[in-house]
Amino acid sequence: MPASPPRRQGPLPEDCAVFHCRGCWAVLGDSLQLCGQEPPGLSVLICFKVTSDVTWEDSLLVGLEGSLLGCAYYLLSCQSCGLAVGFILYSSGSDLAYLRGLFCFFKDSIICYFLQNQMIIEASKVNFPAVTLKERMHKIKEKLVDFNGRVELVMRKLEKLEQNNYVTEWQNSSTAPDDLLSGDARVNAN
Ligand SMILES: [Zn+2]
Repeated sequence: MPASPPRRQGPLPEDCAVFHCRGCWAVLGDSLQLCGQEPPGLSVLICFKVTSDVTWEDSLLVGLEGSLLGCAYYLLSCQSCGLAVGFILYSSGSDLAYLRGLFCFFKDSIICYFLQNQMIIEASKVNFPAVTLKERMHKIKEKLVDFNGRVELVMRKLEKLEQNNYVTEWQNSSTAPDDLLSGDARVNAN
């Protein structure tokens, strides 16, 4: 009997790229975490998750020129080689507000390795299909609703179990007061 083809799950391999640090080739993220459209004037990859090789200081920087003028942000660096690889926006004008709290890699600091064809391309020369946070949120919402349904089911089962336990306990303990009563009665009668 011929084996059935493996079931495909998630994005196709040809869509997947690993994001490497330009300075030392440390893995900093991948294209599965992309979640936003590049704003005009900023050459960045917007991700909602990065690897532990990406670090940042507690101190906020303020943009003095360019697209980040007047914005406050944390600078992201590569833990292995110290290269500045991007930023997390802390405060900004309304045009960049959707980037706040997300990880933005400078495309100039990132080299992409494409898994399917094993090609290495500078991030600045790659156009990834736009994935918006809205789509991501929609998927997360679907998962949450599903998860909530499961939790409710477990809660109902637990409640039922507790009720059964309560009834059993009540039945077991209901003989004790009678004994006590009859004991009291006996004492009183004497
Ligand atoms: Zn590095």
